[in-house]
Amino acid sequence: MNPVLDKHRVKTVVRPEMRFQEQVYLIEVWKGLLITSRHFFVNLWRHCMKALGQDAAAASVTTQYPEDPQVTAHRSRTRHRLLKREDGTPRCVACMLCETVCPAKCIYIKAEESPDVMIEKRAKTFKIDLGMCVFCGYCVEACPEDAIRMDTQYIQFPGSTRADLIWDMPELMGDRPKIPSLTPSKDPLSRP
Ligand code: SF4
Ligand code: SF4
Repeated sequence: MNPVLDKHRVKTVVRPEMRFQEQVYLIEVWKGLLITSRHFFVNLWRHCMKALGQDAAAASVTTQYPEDPQVTAHRSRTRHRLLKREDGTPRCVACMLCETVCPAKCIYIKAEESPDVMIEKRAKTFKIDLGMCVFCGYCVEACPEDAIRMDTQYIQFPGSTRADLIWDMPELMGDRPKIPSLTPSKDPLSRP
């Protein structure tokens, strides 16, 4: 049982019934081939026109991902990180502003008293469920301590289960690498 996941019930989506022509498959396969062929020849035509120096609409370009990862824009909102003070302690003061403002409700913070008399509170646990995050950046904007940023340039965070997408404080601060589980769940909607 995972208390973070238990806060949000999984909604089961009912799959639509297949019609007869879809159950036969042949018609659908032909429709798919026609669409693929159309894209292929339109792109080929555009590439040829460009090669001949003619004015043509931009053709599709295949990116060899992951060997050739796309460069994200410098100001893109990417995976979060928690910042530290000069003495290595987290900058977060557990004010809960980010948790409150988050539209996806995917930030979970537990506060505790700080041993530093100049700081009232600090985060005991700080978790973000990246499977639910919509990367709006509101948490970064709301933070009064500049304790959270979305500038890691990482957009890959693979996981085999939903729990693999929940990053906790040491992982967000870079103190511990995030290691996804090796056992994929049978049902992608099932809880770990
Ligand atoms: S980026 Fe938006 S959705 Fe994601 S944790 Fe921050 S406030 Fe929530
Ligand atoms: S808004 Fe900033 S200081 Fe406040 S709880 Fe979130 S990360 Fe911590």
